[in-house]
Amino acid sequence: MVAMTVREHVPLAEHCTLGVGGPARFFVEAPDEATVLRALEWASARRLPLLALGGGSNLVIADGGVEACVVKLGLRGVTTRDVAGAVEVTAAAGEPWDQLVALAVARGWAGLECLSGIPGLVGATPIQNVGAYGQEVSETLVAVRALDTTAGRIVGFAADECGFAYRDSRFKRDEPGRYVILSVTYRLAPGAAPCVRYAEVERHVASRGVRAPSLEQVRASVLAIRRSKSMVIESGDENRRSCGSFFTNAVVDAADAERVARIAGEADMPRWPQSDGRVKLSSAWLIERAGFRRGQREGPVGLSTRHALAVVAHDGARAADVATFARRVAAAVATRFGVRLTPEPVYWGFDA
Ligand SMILES: Cc1cc2nc3c(=O)[nH]c(=O)nc-3n(C[C@H](O)[C@H](O)[C@H](O)COP(=O)(O)OP(=O)(O)OC[C@H]3O[C@@H](n4cnc5c(N)ncnc54)[C@H](O)[C@@H]3O)c2cc1C
Repeated sequence: MVAMTVREHVPLAEHCTLGVGGPARFFVEAPDEATVLRALEWASARRLPLLALGGGSNLVIADGGVEACVVKLGLRGVTTRDVAGAVEVTAAAGEPWDQLVALAVARGWAGLECLSGIPGLVGATPIQNVGAYGQEVSETLVAVRALDTTAGRIVGFAADECGFAYRDSRFKRDEPGRYVILSVTYRLAPGAAPCVRYAEVERHVASRGVRAPSLEQVRASVLAIRRSKSMVIESGDENRRSCGSFFTNAVVDAADAERVARIAGEADMPRWPQSDGRVKLSSAWLIERAGFRRGQREGPVGLSTRHALAVVAHDGARAADVATFARRVAAAVATRFGVRLTPEPVYWGFDA
């Protein structure tokens, strides 16, 4: 039997980048799969939900905490194997994501470079199909190994079984909380060119006088761009307590996109046509046109001074303040443009 320590009333704020929220009724640190299984048995015997906690960088936890057994994923380990001109990298759920990206870049394996600097752990990357600067994990992910908390057994998913969509997956949308992801396998391309699909990255690389950038150079550009927006977590940064983007970019019908541009009186509104005919809008742009400005504060919460899409918690903030402020931002966008913003972070213990 695996030794397992179950702690009670463990404050969760310090486990989350927002730094707000109450305690976990029960809390287990799991350094290996056996402990995750044991924690599930323990929670099931008490009819408590098991909640998977990674780096806490996409979570808003209620001030009252959660009546659950929270399992902090500490599983480590990276293995690789060569497969027909590609390399398959399998990383345990508790591996820090950016360390994996750095490793892939250093080895010359293309596929993750634009996802540099995203906080959190490997196990969370399939949950919302983590993406940035023209790349998403769904493009390289080939397999997920997970504990099915309903059936109590370990299962595997191929990429096409994960239901990936923009910032979404079956794990987030269809069956939230059912699977605890234990490891993820990505298929990377040794020696391939980096992905430079995003105009901002292209411009940044070009501004450094680089014509055919290496993976390292693209990673450096992405990190520099992210830093300029407080989208990497750095001590001393006044915007560091956030979940990154608080809302996903809004995807609307083409006619609605035209209507929004007309209301704003800006024909050159940023917009990205999607393959299904719909149009992705910049939610940061919508928020600013709805009357909010970067750095605007309401008591202990506000928008990041460097990005209108990030809600920042300051000293004394509570989860309720964050949620109320986010609702006000979304309501202002809905009133002005008739567009509904969807929160990107997951809420524990209360509803968005
Ligand atoms: C400054 C900043 C910048 C960011 N930039 C980006 C970005 O560019 N692109 C992007 O996509 N995201 C971004 N994010 C959001 C966040 O970093 C990612 O979503 C990340 O993948 C969350 O990882 P985590 O380990 O912190 O997950 P957590 O916050 O711990 O958990 C988030 C959700 O995933 C679930 N979960 C976590 N681990 C597991 C697991 N092993 N099994 C099952 N469920 C699990 C949790 O239960 C919860 O529902 C940013 C966040 C911050 C703070």
